[in-house]
Amino acid sequence: MRVKLILPSLTEAHSPFFRPVKYSLFPPLGLATLAAYLDPDDAIVLQDEHVEPLELNDAPHLVVIQVYITSAYRAYAIADRYRAQGAHVCLGGLHVTSLPDEAARHADTIFLGPGEDTWPQFLADFRMDRPQPLYRSTQRSLLGAPPARRDLIKRQLYLVPNSIVVSRGCPHSCDFCYKEAFFQGGRSFYTQAVDDALAEIDRLPGRHLYFLDDHLFGNVRFASALFDGMRGMGRLWQAAGTLQSVLRSGLLERAVDAGLRSLFVGFETLSQQNLRAQGKTQNLDRDYTAATRRLHDLGVMVNASFVFGMDDDGPDVFARTVEWAVSQGIETATFHILTPYPGTALPPFSFASS
Ligand code: SF4
Repeated sequence: MRVKLILPSLTEAHSPFFRPVKYSLFPPLGLATLAAYLDPDDAIVLQDEHVEPLELNDAPHLVVIQVYITSAYRAYAIADRYRAQGAHVCLGGLHVTSLPDEAARHADTIFLGPGEDTWPQFLADFRMDRPQPLYRSTQRSLLGAPPARRDLIKRQLYLVPNSIVVSRGCPHSCDFCYKEAFFQGGRSFYTQAVDDALAEIDRLPGRHLYFLDDHLFGNVRFASALFDGMRGMGRLWQAAGTLQSVLRSGLLERAVDAGLRSLFVGFETLSQQNLRAQGKTQNLDRDYTAATRRLHDLGVMVNASFVFGMDDDGPDVFARTVEWAVSQGIETATFHILTPYPGTALPPFSFASS
C-alpha cells in the first residue's frame, strides 16, 4: 500500500512578515508516530510543507493530513485534490477535533482526539475494505506503542530535529487551553513507560533534546524516574512545566541534574482575577518572582508564556507584562491572544460583546 503523510504549512509560514525559521523548528513527530503502525512493506512518504515543496502528482492509496487551524484551508485543498484522484483521505488533529463537520466535507475519514486507539483500528478496517467515516478516541495509552518512524524525517531540514514527546496532555484544566477540547471523551493525561522513553532518548543522535510535552513534570513518579534515568546521559534539554512544579523542591533539581537548561513556564497573566476566571488554579497565589529566581539560580533559562485578552486585562496589560518580564531577566517569552476555540471552556467569541 502506498501511504502519504502530510503536514501542510501554516498560512503565515509563507508570509514575508514571519520568520521562516520559526516554522522549521520541529519535525512532524505525530505523523512519524502514525507511520510506525503501518506494515513494513507499505511504501510511506512523509512530507512537511514547512520545509519542502509538496509532491502532489503522486498516486497514494491512503493520504493522512494533520490539520491545524491556521493550515486548515491549505489542508482541505490538498485533501480535495487527492480525493478527486481516488485516494482515501484521512484528516485528524486539533482543528479536525474542534470542527469535525467542517473537516468531514473534505475527508473520507476523520479522527477526533489522539490516535493511539483509533488509527490502528482504522488501518485494520481499511485493509478489510470497510473504513468508517469517523473514529473517536476513547481508549488512551502509550504503553506498547511502537517507536516513531524517525527514519522518515528529513532531520537536516529542521532546527531542532531532536524533539521528543513522552506523554500526552496535562493533569490540569485551564479554560483557555486546547487540551480539554482535544482530549474530551477519555483520559487527558498519560505517559509512556519510563523505559520506552529512555530508550527513545538513547536512540537520538547528538546532545540536545527538546521535550514537547505539555507538562513534563505532570506525573511526579514518571518524571522522577525519567530524570534519574537520564542522569549521566550527557544530554542538554528544554521542556515545559507549570509554575507549581518549579516551586516544588526536589523534582526540578533532579531535572537539572539530568540536563534541563531551559523551561517553558505558563505564567499566563499577572492578575489573580484572571487566573481564577480561567481556572488556572495552580498559579493562584504563587510567587512568580521566586519561581523565576529559582530557575535562574539552578542555571535554567526561562521561556515565559503569557496570554493577553482576559477579562481583567486593560489597555496597559501589554506594557505592564513586558516590563515585568524584563525586570525578572526572563530570557524569552511567548505572548498568546486568548482565543475561544470550539470545545474549550471559553464562551464563543462574539464581536458584539468584545
Ligand atoms: S497547565 Fe498548560 S497545558 Fe495544562 S491545561 Fe493549563 S494551559 Fe493547558
